[in-house]
Amino acid sequence: MIQVLVTGGAGFLGSHLCDRLIERKNCQVICVDNLFTGQKENIYHLLNNKDFEFIRHDITFPIYLEVDKIFNMACPASPVHYQHDPVQTLKTCVHGSINVLGLSKRVHGRIFQASTSEVYGDPTVHPQTEDYWGNVNPIGHRSCYDEGKRSAETLFMDYHRQYDLEVAIGRIFNTYGPRMHPNDGRVVSNFIVQTLKRDPITIYGEGKQTRSFCYVDDLIEAILRMMDHRDKLTGPINIGNDDEFTILELAELISDIMGVKPNFEFRPMPSDDPVQRRPDLTKARNMLNWEPKVALRDGLKETIHYFEWMKSNDMLETVY
Ligand code: NAD
Ligand code: UDP
Ligand code: UDP
Repeated sequence: MIQVLVTGGAGFLGSHLCDRLIERKNCQVICVDNLFTGQKENIYHLLNNKDFEFIRHDITFPIYLEVDKIFNMACPASPVHYQHDPVQTLKTCVHGSINVLGLSKRVHGRIFQASTSEVYGDPTVHPQTEDYWGNVNPIGHRSCYDEGKRSAETLFMDYHRQYDLEVAIGRIFNTYGPRMHPNDGRVVSNFIVQTLKRDPITIYGEGKQTRSFCYVDDLIEAILRMMDHRDKLTGPINIGNDDEFTILELAELISDIMGVKPNFEFRPMPSDDPVQRRPDLTKARNMLNWEPKVALRDGLKETIHYFEWMKSNDMLETVY
């Protein structure tokens, strides 16, 4: 059996990763999460599994565990959540990374870092390739996350070079799917929840800004391929989907799938909101032999089912 640590394992991506690892039948998974943005509901179905263990812990404090592999997924990810406590966000990126890197160094275990497209900031290169250094405001409202994740990448590369640590950095682009937090303010969850409640869809700016949305199953597959790769790939490697949509197009698509006439409410654009974002996936395609497979319409249908289920269980008003 392989002992695997997943930090942030009760979150959206982390819980799907735990599921996939448990399905392999050769992994014992330790999920470490402080439940800041994660939810026990995401892992309830695993709590009685003999190969799964949940530890409530904040990774900004040291933790000593004997494991073979580590996935560092812990960090609030949506702007609403990471700006709620910016100092804690930075501590999670920096102190948290140092602790998991220290752990990985002690146990000689390969470690994955969930990095982000936000390291490119408001990009001046389009689509974004891994060798683009980014355009990030160091002192703005998004900086705790953007600069935090950039510092984390630096730490991962320095532990790699200085201590020969096996690291894998994946730069994750906007991902959606079941178990997204209904109140995290991200565009996909916002638009679906608003439509379910028959509230107007809130479009920031004119809705002409673009994003490329990856379905969670495709993303987890890429992360696993990177970690399992025989060449011990270090990255960074972009992972996401390269079909680009404007925010207005997304709103129209969600309304269409849900059979509701679109009703938009235009609001001011948040500061430092990137205008365009699309990953260049050449590296991921070539090195991981991987391809995002789920079309936006199909992935949205699954996500809408999940939020309909939440609504029918009165879970849409819960947290935050
Ligand atoms: P999420 O908020 O659902 O999950 C993050 C998890 O980390 C939560 O369960 C939270 O409770 C936990 N956490 C936060 N701070 C912690 C701490 N100090 N100690 C222990 N646990 C802590 O977000 P997600 O969308 O699942 O994102 C997972 C990772 O992927 C994050 O690192 C995020 O930055 C990265 N990422 C996500 C996206 C995306 O579109 N979802 C895009 C780019 C990068
Ligand atoms: N650390 C941890 N778990 C471990 C090993 C280390 O949390 O299993 C923490 C430890 O507290 C330290 C950090 O990781 O603060 C960095 O470890 P490293 O060995 O790089 O640094 P050092 O201990 O030499 O300061
Ligand atoms: N957005 C929007 N309405 C919302 C939530 C988000 O128009 O209710 C926009 C937001 O301004 C951004 C895009 O959708 O341009 C994606 O936002 P999200 O917070 O999901 O992710 P990120 O900005 O981190 O890519």
